[in-house]
Amino acid sequence: MSTFSSDFIIGILGGGQLGKMLLTETRKWDLKTAVLDPSSSAPCRLGSDVFEVGDLMDYETVYSFGKRTDLLTIEIEHVNSEALEKLEQGGILVYPSSKVLQIIQNKAKQKLFYLDNDIPTATFSRFAYGSEIPESIAHGGLDYPFVWKSAHFGYDGQGVKIVKGPEDLVGLANEECITEELVPLEKELAVIVARSVKGETRTYPVVEMDFHPEANQVEYVLCPARIPSDIAENAKKIALRLVDKLQHVGLLAVEFFLTTEGTLLVNEVAPRPHNSGHFSIEASVTNQYEQHLRAILGLPLGNTDSKIPAVMVNLVGEEGFTGPVYYEGMKEILNIPGVTPHIYGKKETRPFRKMGHVTVVASTIDQARSEAEKVKQTIRVISKES
Ligand code: ADP
Repeated sequence: MSTFSSDFIIGILGGGQLGKMLLTETRKWDLKTAVLDPSSSAPCRLGSDVFEVGDLMDYETVYSFGKRTDLLTIEIEHVNSEALEKLEQGGILVYPSSKVLQIIQNKAKQKLFYLDNDIPTATFSRFAYGSEIPESIAHGGLDYPFVWKSAHFGYDGQGVKIVKGPEDLVGLANEECITEELVPLEKELAVIVARSVKGETRTYPVVEMDFHPEANQVEYVLCPARIPSDIAENAKKIALRLVDKLQHVGLLAVEFFLTTEGTLLVNEVAPRPHNSGHFSIEASVTNQYEQHLRAILGLPLGNTDSKIPAVMVNLVGEEGFTGPVYYEGMKEILNIPGVTPHIYGKKETRPFRKMGHVTVVASTIDQARSEAEKVKQTIRVISKES
């Protein structure tokens, strides 16, 4: 069955900003969509053919939603994977597969997958319960400093803590977790790789992610990364190896640490469109959202070359403001050449909530970076009612 201008329904689990940008592409191609999200005011409430409110972790909700679609994809990985398994058995196409999601939903499983498949990653230990950590330290099995990570539901630096001494152990959740060596970071990088139903693969250029020191959240994404070409080539090679080993279909965003010694270590992966690929809407021949659709629909993959250097600035809620959102400085940033803002459509702001992003393109990456700095200093995501 043709998917264009037809009754073929693409289901999307999650209705946030990634889903909203995917819907721009489904509208472009006149593809029919149904979206499931727990919030009736989610960004995807507009732009989909069907929008349903429901719990993404509930088996019955996900299963009955999926049954009414022809192909199911995600924009967030915290979804009920048992329901996806059942849907796969019933003949629904599910990308990413339940198998890939089950590996990725658990940080310990993800790390073990890297070990089993010769993917370089930071040294780690797995603990069934956080309460086992002090014992391991006492017996010399673990030394300060290290990074504690919850095995489940890590997101935007939640569920991650640098443990420098016994005082940092206080209050850590008593749940399955990993501890990782504290890596001396030169830069954090990411590569988005696409793999289609037919096994065709393409990588986007390596990008550089600059983090906000307090929020532990990405502030700027630079494309291309300012790194030597051999490191970039190596990162792409590792990403391609990973996507093949996973036999994943769709986009896979691979996040790397580049150590001060010049070594690449895979930090984590996301099997979906990703924040580090927003730049592609303005700067790539084929943007990541169109590429995801091409991959999951078994279509030829698009050209991933950049048309122009770009920097993406995340717009997050300013500290101290909670309530109905107000974007201050929009007119001013629109006066800067090469600027395209994206507003996600979330009604309420709160500190560090991702509310939008701005892409800045320029003839050089350094110029784009300095214009991005101006954008960051000019625009404020606040509330006038708090
Ligand atoms: P999340 O899944 O919440 O995004 P990450 O595992 O990516 O969490 O960690 C968030 C950030 O914490 C990383 O981007 C990095 O800046 C820092 N970090 C995580 N693990 C390490 C580590 N082993 N060594 C040094 N810094 C780390």
